[in-house]
Amino acid sequence: MQNLLETNVLIVGGGPAGASAALSLLKYSNLNVIIVEESDLASVKVGEQVNSSIFGLLEYMGIGRDDFTQDNFILGYSSTAAWGSERISVRDSIFNTETESFQLNREEFDYTLLEKVSEKGGIIFPRTKCLQFDQKDDNSWDVDLKHDTKGHFAVHADYLIDATGRSGSVGRKLGLESTRYDELTAIGKFLYCKESQHVKQDIVIESIEDGWWYCATLPNQKMTLTFFTDASIIKEKRLEKIENWNELLSKTTHIQHKITAAYSVGKPWVKNAFSQVTDILSRKNFLAVGDAVASFDPISSMGIGFAITSACNAAKAIIDANLGYEKTFTSYQENINAIYHQYLQTKAFFYQKEQRWSNSAFWRKRI
Ligand SMILES: Cc1cc2nc3c(=O)[nH]c(=O)nc-3n(C[C@H](O)[C@H](O)[C@H](O)COP(=O)(O)OP(=O)(O)OC[C@H]3O[C@@H](n4cnc5c(N)ncnc54)[C@H](O)[C@@H]3O)c2cc1C
Repeated sequence: MQNLLETNVLIVGGGPAGASAALSLLKYSNLNVIIVEESDLASVKVGEQVNSSIFGLLEYMGIGRDDFTQDNFILGYSSTAAWGSERISVRDSIFNTETESFQLNREEFDYTLLEKVSEKGGIIFPRTKCLQFDQKDDNSWDVDLKHDTKGHFAVHADYLIDATGRSGSVGRKLGLESTRYDELTAIGKFLYCKESQHVKQDIVIESIEDGWWYCATLPNQKMTLTFFTDASIIKEKRLEKIENWNELLSKTTHIQHKITAAYSVGKPWVKNAFSQVTDILSRKNFLAVGDAVASFDPISSMGIGFAITSACNAAKAIIDANLGYEKTFTSYQENINAIYHQYLQTKAFFYQKEQRWSNSAFWRKRI
């Protein structure tokens, strides 16, 4: 007979959103939690700029800055952009970003959150895939799973949370409706600098006709260099080929200057970066958190902070629903919709500042 585990909350996806939902539930209730993560937890992560509000969010979940190694957060000393003009300006004046920003060691950050989940009594199954979701008459869930070496097992849960990131794969399997606003895609590489080299700790953004480049210094002499454009432009210009990607890089001035002393290996990676919001209310005892419920253009640097905030709010909605309060999931969705509405306005405002290529396929859709 197949192994059957019982839990109050099953969370699918062990990124910042999934881990934060688990941490909040474990801190503020007696509900028990299982996280299922399909990767082996060793994969390379992208997305690393956060502002200082991250520390308040971590504290809310019972985690201190000293739970991370000292070099996990590096202060982004300056953030500049050539956006709307070929001249480089301090980014704050263009994008009106608030407070200090930090660059994370993203792999360590995600891993530490999961370690804390485990320390606080959560159960984590890495390298595990969800095969099927069945909702029972009492709205609880039966989920069939498969671990890559230990084989099949099943979990029965009162509540199910989708924390699978931009793929929102649980919600899609359940037929939830999402609204997608663009087809932004990131194509990037990590660069490295020698130990002996001084690396300026800053962020540089530069727009060109087909999109915009982003280069940031990360902890451990690493940099991330990413081109953001539409999926159709990547296809048309065959940007996954390094020679074509390099040709677009050669159109930059400030970015090229920043990376002169850095080296890289391999082909560029490609990641979805589209803006999308999902409505979760057609299913009972189901919530989505982080990118799975709402994903943002990385120009906003909202992703990680939102992943944690939405997860804490989702945990509260479940705790309150379990105590018998009504409409807690509806309030959760209304809050997401309000944040998203504000975000779309701010995003349009950012993009309208770049008017130099109003006829190009990329900018025409955004300005
Ligand atoms: C190029 C790029 C740059 C970015 N830059 C920034 C930035 O500077 N600042 C910022 O705040 N945000 C940034 N973001 C966004 C940020 O990375 C995300 O918002 C954040 O990672 C969302 O966290 P999450 O936990 O919702 O999803 P994720 O971090 O994507 O985690 C989802 C997890 O679910 C797992 N998973 C997926 N499907 C399944 C499944 N079916 N079963 C089990 N597990 C599954 C995945 O393996 C993963 O571990 C960037 C995004 C991109 C693409």
